[in-house]
Amino acid sequence: MNKKIKLITFDLDDTLWDNHPTIIKAERETRKWIEGEVGKIEWGDFNDFLSLREQLIKDDKSIAWDISKLRKEIFRKKLSHVTPGEYRDNIVDKAFEIFISKRHDVKFFGGVKNAIRDLSKKYILGVLTNGNANIFKFDIGECFEFSISSLEAKDSKPNRAHFDKALTKVKDITFDNMLHIGDHQINDMYAANSLGIDCLWFNINNGWEQRFEKPDEFSDWNKLLRVIENKYE
Ligand SMILES: [Mg+2]
Repeated sequence: MNKKIKLITFDLDDTLWDNHPTIIKAERETRKWIEGEVGKIEWGDFNDFLSLREQLIKDDKSIAWDISKLRKEIFRKKLSHVTPGEYRDNIVDKAFEIFISKRHDVKFFGGVKNAIRDLSKKYILGVLTNGNANIFKFDIGECFEFSISSLEAKDSKPNRAHFDKALTKVKDITFDNMLHIGDHQINDMYAANSLGIDCLWFNINNGWEQRFEKPDEFSDWNKLLRVIENKYE
């Protein structure tokens, strides 16, 4: 029997847009600005980033889900030789502002905006993201009833906090009335599936690697409305 879907929740990064080039560009431009202010910095590689992150989380648990704070604290560590501290903090704040602005310089996948607009006429739409992009900074933000980031959930998907919080945003709703759409096999598909929430996998070119049954998938946003109509209407 088909479920009665009332609420559709969406992941953002790599679901509505290709996140990798956006972040790389934001990172590169922010670093360039910082170096213009204080001179050359040893940024380190991805492994350095991971160990620094681990160290920061040890000192402050909230950094695990507050990725904006994580980014600021990483800048602060990399600028530890810059004095006085007040000047350093100022650079960190400005660098973060630059980063977050560039981070929203995204290119939506083809068909996203129309699909979101069409779906918003029939369903309540929400965002569940582990990232720090803000859907309300885009014109299609007006189609969404709510957005829950890891900062608000104080946790990250695949844990259930985002999904539990979604239920508090909409009247008379249960997980049976929800459909979650995302790209990530664990953070989105496994997370939703393990709560009994229907899910739809946005998949451009990957094989299914999980032990549970592969959910229905789509690779073209222009076809999403039809996929949902066929499944639920
Ligand atoms: Mg994603």
